Amino acid sequence: MKRFGVIGHPIAHSLSPLLHNTAFSLLGLDCSYEAFDIDPASLPAAIREFKDQGFVGLNVTIPHKESTLSLVDELTDEARAVGAVNTVTLSGSHVRGDNTDVYGVAASLEQYRPEIRDRIVVLIGAGGSARAIAYALIDRFAPAEIVIANRTQRRAQELIADIEPYAKETSLRAISVSDENLDRLMPSASVVINATPVGMFPLVDHSPIGDRTSFHSNQVVLDLIYTPLETRFLSLASKCGARTISGLEMFLHQGARSFEIWLGRRMPLDQIRPVILNQLHTRQTTAEP
Ligand code: NAP
Repeated sequence: MKRFGVIGHPIAHSLSPLLHNTAFSLLGLDCSYEAFDIDPASLPAAIREFKDQGFVGLNVTIPHKESTLSLVDELTDEARAVGAVNTVTLSGSHVRGDNTDVYGVAASLEQYRPEIRDRIVVLIGAGGSARAIAYALIDRFAPAEIVIANRTQRRAQELIADIEPYAKETSLRAISVSDENLDRLMPSASVVINATPVGMFPLVDHSPIGDRTSFHSNQVVLDLIYTPLETRFLSLASKCGARTISGLEMFLHQGARSFEIWLGRRMPLDQIRPVILNQLHTRQTTAEP
């Protein structure tokens, strides 16, 4: 049996085991996938242990995405550019680190490609996922400009300094999320993305831009959060006629890409999506996302 897992801290609520085990079962694969709570100090020893036990692949989540970079033998271009690893492939003594969040966000936005090229994107947040999004946008969609709106300006500036070398056709600029210029800028954006945890369960009445509703019907609005599926941010955007995408799409696609890297098989996402949605609805009705 091929063994896989997800490592994080905490990890109890991860949907990755359900995602991958459902795929194994649908495809009749002799594989298993478990969640492992690894505290940061134990990460190097844990990776060695997974290697010794013959694990084939690991997903890596908060808080280990950055620290895993220095624990692998080989990095893909995407993991290096983003500065984070979310997928590890173990083959013999060799460990490769990849970043499938880049693919995940690109797949979530693919149907809106014409709305992104040569247009303005407002990206709220400057953490690990915002880095993957900024890289995916400049590498796959070439917007004219990405405006990074973050609470901490220094972090947004650091993201720009690291990603700018890859940006051939896109200019990057930082702004404070509380700057009133953001309100003036929002109407010119074709795409608005929330890459912060603001609005996630249990603080579902919060939105990263408060109740400011400068959305409009020509916009595409993506929230990385999927608990709840419709955040306050997406609900405000939807009321203004914007097309909205929940973070579930990115979650499904980043997992499907890891699966493909490890097994060379496509994950049957159309059959798996209802299983994950059902689990999310169950958690929402028991107030336990
Ligand atoms: P991270 O590295 O910790 O970054 C968090 C970002 O959110 C930072 O820019 C931070 O601003 C900002 N932030 C946090 N609390 C805030 C607050 N109260 N007010 C304003 N800004 C705040 O986290 P991450 O890994 O990028 O993850 C961000 C979100 O994306 C999380 O909700 C995560 O669950 C979600 N996510 C979803 C997927 C998916 O597949 N759908 C994948 C990855 C991540 P400062 O710099 O000022 O601290």
